[in-house]
Amino acid sequence: MRESNLERLESPLDSVGHVVDECPICNRIDSKSRPCSLHQEAMRNLDSQYEAWRSAMGGDLSRNEYYKCLLGLGETGPAVKQAIEYLRGAEPESV
Ligand SMILES: [Zn+2]
Repeated sequence: MRESNLERLESPLDSVGHVVDECPICNRIDSKSRPCSLHQEAMRNLDSQYEAWRSAMGGDLSRNEYYKCLLGLGETGPAVKQAIEYLRGAEPESV
């Protein structure tokens, strides 16, 4: 038992060869998805909402502006805000 646990720690790969890692946003380990299901859902919402926002703005809305708007909204959920912070950090041009 001990040995197999150790092996698991040393290799971040599961039996199928998928990387099992923690969510880069909340560090929660979710064996099914990375980011975790919560933040995956948040990112999916961000993506689908972006198209709606952009067309509402006449097609002229950068991702960065979109994120800024959402962060300023009181109704934006914490998971979505965390996903935004993560996405903005991942893009070097977004300062
Ligand atoms: Zn997460």
